[in-house]
Amino acid sequence: MKLSRRHFLAGGAACAAIPVVTIATTGSEAEPQKENLALVFDQTKCIGCEACSEACREANNVPEGVSRLNIVREGPLGEGDDKHYRFDRQSCVHCETAPCVSVCPTGACIRDEKGVVDVVANKCVGCQYCIAACPYRVRYVDPVTKAVDKCDLCRKTRLKEGRAPACVEACPTKAVVFGDLNDPNSEIVQVLRAKQTYRDKVALGTKPKLYKVPHGKGKVI
Ligand code: SF4
Ligand code: SF4
Ligand code: SF4
Repeated sequence: MKLSRRHFLAGGAACAAIPVVTIATTGSEAEPQKENLALVFDQTKCIGCEACSEACREANNVPEGVSRLNIVREGPLGEGDDKHYRFDRQSCVHCETAPCVSVCPTGACIRDEKGVVDVVANKCVGCQYCIAACPYRVRYVDPVTKAVDKCDLCRKTRLKEGRAPACVEACPTKAVVFGDLNDPNSEIVQVLRAKQTYRDKVALGTKPKLYKVPHGKGKVI
């Protein structure tokens, strides 16, 4: 599926129910899919401690002033004993049909055989087309390398060592689950079968792979 840059720049938020197992398809960037790696973020478990984003920074040598992962706080909501906050995760959602990949003129933006969207820094010429095309607003220019960067699911660090992403391991409440959507026995597929989830901006056709268990209080936005 090929989608124009203009289409994505015009996109707004949307939420929808999901199938339990996604089909590993993509656009012109298609490669034979071995795995289809994804994340679930459970808003009912997140306490907003930001251990995940700190672990990400350390594991991936992310410079100060930019971040691959932001925990966004909303609130306080409610009153008295019901006073509470909502926390949401903002990071690359590893779109199966990734507009950043489609618009990149140099091939620096890729989607690999495991379904991970990444940036090949030495191919990035800094045109920032991908930043403009990303409807999730998760890309930035690395102030050190001057290349565009974002969450790569720890592809170049921990995944290479056979370890789970840093944000997954660091979370004290197990609010983040990582795994392969193509493996029916994986923890992530079990979680998606057991819990109601949603994804951001599915109406754009990006097929995002960051699933969210909605907060038990307040509304899904
Ligand atoms: S969330 Fe943005 S950076 Fe990530 S794959 Fe989708 S379009 Fe690309
Ligand atoms: S998967 Fe890795 S790169 Fe992505 S937010 Fe988590 S720790 Fe950072
Ligand atoms: S480490 Fe876990 S609980 Fe803490 S902010 Fe991140 S997702 Fe939420």
